Amino acid sequence: MRYPPISFLRPSSIRFIASFVILFLGCLTANISLCLPIIPSSLETLSVDGHFSFHGIEHAARDFGNRYQFLPQAVLHPKSVSDIATTIKHVWQMGPGSELTVAARGHGHSLQGQAQAHQGVVINMESLQGTEMQVYTGNFPYVDVSGGELWINILHESLKYGLAPKSWTDYLHLTVGGTLSNAGISGQAFRHGPQISNVHWLEVVTGKGEVINCSKNQNGDLFHSVLGGLGQFGIITRARISLEPAPKMVKWIRVLYSDFSTFARDQEYLISAENTFDYIEGFVIINRTGLLNNWRSSFNPQDPVQASQFESDGKILFCLELTKNFKVDNTNINQEVESLLSQLSYIPSTLFLSEVPYIDFLDRVHVSEVKLRSKGLWRFHTHGSIFWFPKARYTILLKKFLEKFLKTPAMAPFLSTQLTNQSKSDKLISFSLKILREVDSLIYSIFRWDNRTSAVIPEEDIFYLVAFLSSAVPSSTGTDGLEYILSRNKRILDFCKTARLGVKQYLPHYTTQEEWRTHFGPRWEAFAQRKSAYDPLAILAPGHRIFRKATPFL
Ligand code: FAD
Repeated sequence: MRYPPISFLRPSSIRFIASFVILFLGCLTANISLCLPIIPSSLETLSVDGHFSFHGIEHAARDFGNRYQFLPQAVLHPKSVSDIATTIKHVWQMGPGSELTVAARGHGHSLQGQAQAHQGVVINMESLQGTEMQVYTGNFPYVDVSGGELWINILHESLKYGLAPKSWTDYLHLTVGGTLSNAGISGQAFRHGPQISNVHWLEVVTGKGEVINCSKNQNGDLFHSVLGGLGQFGIITRARISLEPAPKMVKWIRVLYSDFSTFARDQEYLISAENTFDYIEGFVIINRTGLLNNWRSSFNPQDPVQASQFESDGKILFCLELTKNFKVDNTNINQEVESLLSQLSYIPSTLFLSEVPYIDFLDRVHVSEVKLRSKGLWRFHTHGSIFWFPKARYTILLKKFLEKFLKTPAMAPFLSTQLTNQSKSDKLISFSLKILREVDSLIYSIFRWDNRTSAVIPEEDIFYLVAFLSSAVPSSTGTDGLEYILSRNKRILDFCKTARLGVKQYLPHYTTQEEWRTHFGPRWEAFAQRKSAYDPLAILAPGHRIFRKATPFL
């Protein structure tokens, strides 16, 4: 067992010391094997509005990654917040001698068992969806939603009022609690920040079973702890999400570049310009045969003749994906888009446009989901590595990696036949997330990431999100198989660590506390202190394996 370091024990408050002692005793108790067996029937005696399931609960031991299977003892299907509070309080009152832990499960779209609880209790947050969503209109509109609500449902409900949340994920069939526990990012983040920056208020059940309301000004420490907090400090039962007037339609655009520097320059220009697009993402396409022909099913080439002559095969291309929102009666939209595009230096024959309802654009990944599901491939879709890259490192190293590709020895760990010979849905997404830079005292920033939240990002102000996304083909032992993709992910991680690139993992997954400490860096102590304050017995979110209740680290 690795006990917390002395620095972790620095007593900033009596409560902290007391909490730590409880945590310590809990671990000690486990080590000398005095833990009592867990009796699910003690849960049965609890008076809840919903119900517990003790059998047929294998689904709670699975997630999107399909790799980790930790069977819980029980699944709670809560009908009310008090069901969750009663259950956690019960576990808290069992004291440090009990090994029982609790995991909130949103839509189970984690990849590495983060929403699972070995021999513990899984709370099926989607059962709470029944709590009515309430949209508030006015100058600063917002919606109050359950922590188990799917973002797609929030979109449908808020659109009834002509409103919509500001910041999204690419895929909307995820829960509020699940994405707020990470960050929640997509191509709107350059303007509005991640989803955790667009929340006014939360209702949280802590690891002691207390129900606490929090916001920036009320219980601010809990509020910031929970946002990006990997479910460690409390269960989000309700959230107030900021809304904005929703557009009816979007112009959806894709353009290609063959030169990385030009692509990166245009992307950074767009995210820092005052008058710009509403969604900006970039991705890299390698060796994609008939690329533009594939786009034709949903996009129209502006110059069909030129587009049909464009050869994408065997090339590394960089794609900017952009949208501009508009109202149906906006007759100037075409000129506006043209004027924005005229500032860019993409390959002219690769301008592809489409015009779709806002909802169709936001829910675009669902279309691929339906197709992949029909082929039985959806569950194996993504096994990538996602990083925040400091801009300086991104520009130098990724540029070399992408442009010279095989020739730079320093980039060897990134390289693989997988990347040079990509399967159809392999892609490397990169998009600038934030620019906050002072140039001759002129701040041209877009978005300031609130570093009081628990989300871990690079030290530098400007960084990119880089995602290596791959589809794993079931039972393949080749370069499109899961084992290969996982070993590639590991090589990327090892390389980043050895080369001290200052990258941070998004949706982090580590197996030892040492690795977690490295991930949090100077923020580790504060993170651990918050854990002691809000979940001193380490009951919550055991699937991340950061703090292990009554069980030694491996
Ligand atoms: P789960 O996997 O069920 O839970 C995730 C974690 O949050 C667990 O630790 C769980 O205990 C905790 N948790 C769940 N609910 C609560 C709650 N109410 N209170 C406290 N803790 C809770 N992410 C992005 O940012 N942008 C994207 O575009 C994006 N696209 C994705 C596309 C796909 C196909 C997939 C599979 C994932 C994608 N993700 C994306 C990652 C996704 O945001 C996370 O995996 C998220 O955790 C999934 O939400 P979920 O509701 O399934 O959560």
